[in-house]
Amino acid sequence: MVDESIRQIDRLARSLPGIPIHTESHYRLAYAYDATGLRGECGGVAFPGNLSDLRRLVREAGARGIPLFPRGAGSGFTGGSIPLRGGLVVSGEKLDRIRYFDRDREIVSVECGVVNHALQDFLEPLGFFYPPDPASLKFSTIGGNIAENAGGPKAFKYGVTRRYVRSITWVEAGGDLIETAPEGVTSLLVGAEGTLGVIYSATLSVLPLPEAFKTALLAVDGDERAVTEAVSFISSGFCPSVLEYIDSKTMRCVAEYRDLGILDATRSYLFVEVDGSPEGVCEEFRLLEDLCRSRNIRLITARDASERELLWEVRRSVSPSLARRGVTKVNEDVSLPLGRLAETVAFVHRLAGELALDCYIFGHCGDGNLHINIMTDRRNRDEMERVERFVRDLFERVTASGGTLSGEHGIGLTKSEFLGMIFSPSERVLQRRIKEALDPRGILNPGKYFMVGQ
Ligand SMILES: Cc1cc2nc3c(=O)[nH]c(=O)nc-3n(C[C@H](O)[C@H](O)[C@H](O)COP(=O)(O)OP(=O)(O)OC[C@H]3O[C@@H](n4cnc5c(N)ncnc54)[C@H](O)[C@@H]3O)c2cc1C
Repeated sequence: MVDESIRQIDRLARSLPGIPIHTESHYRLAYAYDATGLRGECGGVAFPGNLSDLRRLVREAGARGIPLFPRGAGSGFTGGSIPLRGGLVVSGEKLDRIRYFDRDREIVSVECGVVNHALQDFLEPLGFFYPPDPASLKFSTIGGNIAENAGGPKAFKYGVTRRYVRSITWVEAGGDLIETAPEGVTSLLVGAEGTLGVIYSATLSVLPLPEAFKTALLAVDGDERAVTEAVSFISSGFCPSVLEYIDSKTMRCVAEYRDLGILDATRSYLFVEVDGSPEGVCEEFRLLEDLCRSRNIRLITARDASERELLWEVRRSVSPSLARRGVTKVNEDVSLPLGRLAETVAFVHRLAGELALDCYIFGHCGDGNLHINIMTDRRNRDEMERVERFVRDLFERVTASGGTLSGEHGIGLTKSEFLGMIFSPSERVLQRRIKEALDPRGILNPGKYFMVGQ
């Protein structure tokens, strides 16, 4: 079947001279994966370099019934960009131009393949920033961020991607172009995981850079207590831009990964940043100091820009330090009401203990998003059965607690079987109708879920 798909894609390539389309085995192997480590069936990879090529590609592939799998950097954690059934990956790598910046309207227009960090680097000297800052910002793309409605550490204060997408230019399944306005259907494509259209470009709102920052790590005894304290800070009126949680086991990994010289790795940590005007930051930080003093919590404060960078390095080292830990990392990113976080942390530790699984928790706890990581080995069938049970029990518990399956990583392949836990059958029917209306032949990211109105 894949051989026939490759032949079909080769014929497509011959009919579209000027668009690089590769079916060699090294391309098909490299683009068969994303950050889940799962491997799909890739028939080829296309690299359109401009809008006209993207439209020709989608129209021609659609007419031949070739399934298309839009892809940014492949950093997704749910298999969203993994090609199935020998389909064609549509890479945004060559669509990486920043089109224009409008200072007065505080907007920037970018092609889908622009890497988030490249956009931040472009904006910073102009005195602006783009708030959605996934921890993958050094490699993930704006197209992928929009398709997953990405969040990040700053989401607590600034919100997630959807808030900043003003309009999208996308190619629909027949190759036609759709340009949306802020009041139009823009939101439909945000979080649709590449199943409703291929994003060519987007106009994004940006904000003036805050004048001042203050950054700190808080060392807390006890994993549940750290989360409880974070929630109580918020109830006390503390309003940081970043409020992240790192449990003690994860912190031990970070300390082993990089000698950052400031960690007592037996504790849990909260990573906090406050931003705004210099006076506002001082006032907010005084509140934090008072809260920590009254609770006997040690505060490690960055005194200058280089110490701030060092503390951010601690946060950024979390994912790479865990990646070295197991052959396979199963990473769930559930989202919960703040009042249910501490009991969920306790539940996760208990469940992982009962099932003898190696578990690590961190996350954007300010907005209720916990990343629960199980280190495992996909080749170990017995262990994987226990992981599957863990994931199902976790999702049942989270949804019963008023939470949801994903705070930011999306549904993709890995969570689609659990959708019945969050959507009613009638809502699923409506979602399918929307999909059929926009993609009647089912060529856009087939086999994946799309999420509407999340
Ligand atoms: C170390 C690490 C840290 C991470 N931290 C965060 C975090 O803090 N917050 C967060 O939200 N995520 C995080 N992620 C997950 C991931 O980086 C995000 O989901 C990101 O938005 C995916 O971007 P990408 O360019 O890699 O997209 P891909 O993984 O290539 O694709 C993701 C989805 O977007 C679709 N897509 C891609 N381009 C287009 C397009 N042009 N048109 C239509 N659909 C498209 C794909 O079909 C797929 O469904 C992290 C991942 C890693 C590896």
